[in-house]
Amino acid sequence: MTHTEASAFEEVNEKVAQAGEILGLKSGVISALSSCEREVVISIPLRRGDDVEVLTGYRVQHSSARGPRKGGIRFHQAVDLDEVRALASLMTWKTALIDVPFGGAKGGVAVDASLLTDIEKEEIIRRWTRSLVHVLGHHRDIPAPDMGTDSKTMAWLMDEFHRLEGFQPACVTGKPVELFGAPGREEATGRGVAMVAAETLRQHSVEVQGATVAIQGFGNVGRYTALVCQELGMKVIAISDVTGGIKDEKGLDIKKFFGKKSLADVEVNERIGAAEVLEVECDVLIPAALGGVINSENMTRINARFIIEGANQPLSISADKSLRESGVFIVPDILANSGGVMGSYFEWTQNIQEFSWPIERFRSELDTRMETAFNNTNRVAEKYSVDLRTAAFIVAVGRVSEAFKLRGSLI
Ligand code: NAD
Repeated sequence: MTHTEASAFEEVNEKVAQAGEILGLKSGVISALSSCEREVVISIPLRRGDDVEVLTGYRVQHSSARGPRKGGIRFHQAVDLDEVRALASLMTWKTALIDVPFGGAKGGVAVDASLLTDIEKEEIIRRWTRSLVHVLGHHRDIPAPDMGTDSKTMAWLMDEFHRLEGFQPACVTGKPVELFGAPGREEATGRGVAMVAAETLRQHSVEVQGATVAIQGFGNVGRYTALVCQELGMKVIAISDVTGGIKDEKGLDIKKFFGKKSLADVEVNERIGAAEVLEVECDVLIPAALGGVINSENMTRINARFIIEGANQPLSISADKSLRESGVFIVPDILANSGGVMGSYFEWTQNIQEFSWPIERFRSELDTRMETAFNNTNRVAEKYSVDLRTAAFIVAVGRVSEAFKLRGSLI
């Protein structure tokens, strides 16, 4: 991961401190909001042939001020404590920004998910769940998928949790629709990213029809973002995954290869590098894979008018500043990709009520609530004369600090 300037957690806390100062919070309160409530590090012995490999797993609970902690589990070789802290903290700000009754958490295992068999993946998530069951639960901390994990992984997690604690399908979100998942959850993050992209274009009087889009990532977020962008009339001209990228100035037909596991075997005229997609000339650039991919090394080669952050923390703070100064409009992760946790909230409430919504209701509630968050963040940006990321943090930090005060934990 290329967080060259500061660590990922330090970068989030820089924004928290800035928002706290604008809101006039005391320095002790800002310190409290910059710390994690609980951090658990576990070892996960994994059978490898006739030997064992020991992996490291994490669950960081950043805040429960506004509700049970909520956040995904990442399986990736670059996972470490600092990254999990940063992502847990971002969940606190994201859930507050979109006003759902959750706090923030994140989990992970340092392992290359692409090298795991299904049986190994199942063994890892079951062990992760057994070791952490005492801090999990539908009113304590609710995991969800992230990079390297998916609905199948969440089904194994739920099954292990049920063995230990009894029936509680709301203990995890992002489950398969056939097993207490919610129709609409899988597409929710990408759908939200695409909707935000379209709304941003309209806000800047740029025609949505035919607007050119480049996307890094063809996983859960990237592929649904691409699909919905195309459905909304935009032209996806480049997309990449870990195997490399593909490009077509006339527009790629995403529907044609939507179901493919990777882009490696897609038939197309032009192939580009996995990171090269970030430098393609386009209206909208959507990083939807790793963090830290736009940084001081490549920021001068970005060729887009708008950046919509599908991934978490794809821009370093210095790249964010420099690109904004050169006129690029950036929609921050905690707003742009919040459709995922919004969808998780819908799944969680449906599980608790043992009631399920048709997908049309899911989509319309998602669209309405995303629009509210988008408009509110824009209003705050105008009020304080700040960029959208700073505005998003002002809203979120304001809500969490208020909850802290009302709980009586601070004066
Ligand atoms: P995923 O594992 O489903 O997909 C990741 C994609 O990134 C894959 O296509 C992979 O090939 C690609 N990739 C990996 N390394 C790459 C590289 N070096 N260059 C180009 N592509 C590369 O993960 P996801 O769930 O789609 O998550 C992607 C990002 O979105 C992460 O930052 C995650 O935290 C964030 N996010 C996910 C959700 C969600 O609901 N899944 C919600 C909010 C934010």
